[in-house]
Amino acid sequence: MNDIKFIIMNPSGSNAWFVNHLLHNRPVPAHTIDHHLKTLGYDSTVIEYFTYWDKEQLVNHVLKGAQGKKLVLMFSFTLFNKANNKHDAANFVNTIKDNHPDVRVIGGGIKDYEADVYASYKFLDLIYCGRSINKFKEHAESGELFDLIDQLNKPCIVNIDTTDIDPPITHYFYPDGHWDQRDVAVFEISMGCKFDCTFCSYDLRGIKNPTHQQVDALVNYFNAAKEAGVTHFFAGDDTINEEDSKMEVLRTAVKELDFTPHIAGFARVDMLHNKQYRIETLSESGVHSLFFGIESMNYNANRYIRKGASAQKIVQTLQQIKEVNPNIYTFGGFIVGLEGDSEQVIRQNNELALQNLDSLYYNPLYIQRYRPEWDWMSHIDKDPQKYGYTTTEVMPDNDNLVGWYNSWTDHEKAGRLAVTLNEENERKYGISKTVSNWFYTCARACGVTQSPLDWTRSCTSKYGFTLNHLHRRNTPNRMVIDTYIKNKLGE
Ligand code: SF4
Repeated sequence: MNDIKFIIMNPSGSNAWFVNHLLHNRPVPAHTIDHHLKTLGYDSTVIEYFTYWDKEQLVNHVLKGAQGKKLVLMFSFTLFNKANNKHDAANFVNTIKDNHPDVRVIGGGIKDYEADVYASYKFLDLIYCGRSINKFKEHAESGELFDLIDQLNKPCIVNIDTTDIDPPITHYFYPDGHWDQRDVAVFEISMGCKFDCTFCSYDLRGIKNPTHQQVDALVNYFNAAKEAGVTHFFAGDDTINEEDSKMEVLRTAVKELDFTPHIAGFARVDMLHNKQYRIETLSESGVHSLFFGIESMNYNANRYIRKGASAQKIVQTLQQIKEVNPNIYTFGGFIVGLEGDSEQVIRQNNELALQNLDSLYYNPLYIQRYRPEWDWMSHIDKDPQKYGYTTTEVMPDNDNLVGWYNSWTDHEKAGRLAVTLNEENERKYGISKTVSNWFYTCARACGVTQSPLDWTRSCTSKYGFTLNHLHRRNTPNRMVIDTYIKNKLGE
């Protein structure tokens, strides 16, 4: 075992200059896999922020760690599957291969239909499709992993032969993670979402009775995190407040701690309307940073996507949240172009949203090219006509997407309106009003702000007023990333 080195590249630290901006959270699957490998006695480590490393430095660091050993490099493509990401990973692997005699490469989180068709994954020796941490663990335990990795037909593809979803995961905080108080860790209470919105193409939707995390596991996780200095978290759940039982698990765990973690999560606003006890549960559990996928405050449009909330209901709920706890940060994600909406109503509702949300962002509606091999395409992708959309040509810059028009707009106009609204809001209020709650939580971990009450002032003074200011090398988030890289290099 000591003659093999596993290095798991975590593509954390979003390089995308849109709603997520500059995040420095550290995704959980890589750390869970690292833990399984360490437990089995393997030499394993995670390297965070793959996109931010100077690649020459990273190559040298990896080669130094793998000296005299067989090297297994691992990448997760769940949130890292754009063409340029794969190109960067492949280039990096090729450089390592030029300099090391024995390298194998594993990719995880790839959709099963993509593994076969995309030549861009050909640099991998072994592919685990979907959510397959348990399968990987099984293969590592039995040793089958090494047979699969060395098969002649590359890449070897592992599909999960069951519809069971891996249970929710937490992780350990090993010293080679170089954690500190500015870090944001990620955990899960339960995976999947019980809803089925018509525009959503997420594969774990419509899940009934998901497995919840054990209270004890959460207590141990938070205590270990605090020992490592970490008190800020993202809940990886697709919806953190879909069920009372789920929120109870978190509240019970947090009650057993001697500190209240700060937690950011995706939430459904309709589940909180006139439900003070649910808002109190979130508040007591430390869930103080909420991403609401509101999509539209126009009831006509909202009901078409199966969310069914009116502007009045949404505003009431947002006010009820602030009445329970003004320290809860609220972000709204909106879609421009939904059937049943109109520019005039979107603009009116933008004013309401600005008054009642801490920040908000618009994206245009995207319709994906229909691919029968992917069962989980959204209802709109599968049958656009039924939902009021006529699709047109495949997009020249992205062959996964198609053009569309409906009764009031089309993909180009919707795209322009989304950009215009974001720019107008930024010009008037600055980026404090357009960045996501995930960014707020990262900023809070960096000590930039304490609560939404001081957010506008602190955001402006520590980051600046426009999106361009986030490109500076000395943002608090970027400094966390730089410190991590420096510590990792010093190992
Ligand atoms: S949009 Fe959100 S709430 Fe709706 S199905 Fe998808 S994950 Fe669930």
